[in-house]
Amino acid sequence: MSYEARSLAPVTDAPTNESYDVVIIGGAIIGSAVAWFLAEHYQFDGSILVVERDMTFTNCSTAHTNSCMRQQFSNPLNVKISQYAAEFVREFKALVGPDDPEVHDVAVEHFGYMYLAADQPFAETLRVNQALQAELGAGTRIYTPDEIKAEYPYYNVDDLICGSHNKVDEGYFDSGSMFDAWRRKARQAGVEYTRGEVVTMERSGDRISSVTLASGRVVACGAVVNAAGPRASTVAAMAGFDLPVEPRKRFTFMVDVAEPLEGSRLPLTIDPSGVHVRPEGTSYMTGCSPNPDPAVDPDDFTMDDDIFEEKIWPALAHRIPAFERLKVATRWAGHYAHNRLDHNVVVGPHPEVDNFVFANGFSGHGLQQSPAIGRGVAERIVFGQYRTLDLSPLGYQRILDAEAFVETAVI
Ligand SMILES: Cc1cc2nc3c(=O)[nH]c(=O)nc-3n(C[C@H](O)[C@H](O)[C@H](O)COP(=O)(O)OP(=O)(O)OC[C@H]3O[C@@H](n4cnc5c(N)ncnc54)[C@H](O)[C@@H]3O)c2cc1C
Repeated sequence: MSYEARSLAPVTDAPTNESYDVVIIGGAIIGSAVAWFLAEHYQFDGSILVVERDMTFTNCSTAHTNSCMRQQFSNPLNVKISQYAAEFVREFKALVGPDDPEVHDVAVEHFGYMYLAADQPFAETLRVNQALQAELGAGTRIYTPDEIKAEYPYYNVDDLICGSHNKVDEGYFDSGSMFDAWRRKARQAGVEYTRGEVVTMERSGDRISSVTLASGRVVACGAVVNAAGPRASTVAAMAGFDLPVEPRKRFTFMVDVAEPLEGSRLPLTIDPSGVHVRPEGTSYMTGCSPNPDPAVDPDDFTMDDDIFEEKIWPALAHRIPAFERLKVATRWAGHYAHNRLDHNVVVGPHPEVDNFVFANGFSGHGLQQSPAIGRGVAERIVFGQYRTLDLSPLGYQRILDAEAFVETAVI
């Protein structure tokens, strides 16, 4: 079929059919990744419905992201998940829309992450992680303070022991374009997006048989995918499952500095204080986790400006003295879908209710994990097993067993 002949499936106000092979709850980056990978799968010709409560996507995590990818994880599976993101983004146009003039290459800026260690235990963690990442083909290197200073003279390195830095396939990528293209191409492949909120679901024995929308409309389903972001535990509870995923607020500040930094472009710096900062055009984007860090309502977007004055700015000015003179241009609050057990994604079918599929709890790395998760969920639905990357260590069974998936490089 030629590109011109494939029109977009409309976004509907109510589902067109009574029944779908797959119903995806949530249509942001994860829901749309699953929709696209499934719709384009060579062995899938079923029907797909994406139910989305806010088709403007204004308040979802995807709209509040910093949009970076890294290979500096401590768990080999997380490294491989992000390596697939780098590969997917590199080949994006060829994979998603080679003949489609509206699908463009995804822009990437490889400024890399720079993890800084000011104490021996963390320096040792960075060294151990670097060895693992290098073994898996990542470009991570350990830098001495002198090496850091030579390349990035604006840093204060006086209190540092080392840095861990990778300039290959690490940095910002344009996840917004990826999201738009996935949504459009999924609709072009026949996926129906409908406005609505799933409020309950019917479970018969070991199957979810239908979901019910706030409108009262009941939709039968062959499988259901939970891609509800910070609201994932509410959706899981509809099926009777306890999912330890909750919304946690994260604040982002865009700042302008009085004088440009001289030297190589600032890497995405993870300061020992926990403050992170990266370049964004001629400005800088910064933030850190609040302390305390309670669960919040998913509709709570109130800002905490004190965190900038009390924690972020002093840490920035200590690490990069030129940041003593800056002004905040804009700021926003967004939510991590925080997995209380281990900060990592829960993906795959429920062990007993096989047609309920989780894709939840991404914390601060869901954008870069979306290609591998979309592909994995599609494989699990089509083949009943993973065929490329085995994601089963990230399955729901570990929640039941209370056995954490260990990842020390959490931001
Ligand atoms: C400040 C910040 C910085 C980040 N930085 C990065 C980064 O640098 N790199 C990275 O990889 N990741 C980053 N992330 C994480 C990333 O943004 C998220 O992991 C990702 O966007 C999660 O996508 P999602 O589709 O699971 O959730 P969301 O984007 O929240 O989407 C969930 C969707 O489900 C819908 N929904 C919920 N319940 C229902 C229902 N019952 N019925 C119908 N629809 C429903 C919602 O309306 C929403 O649109 C960051 C996040 C934040 C907040």
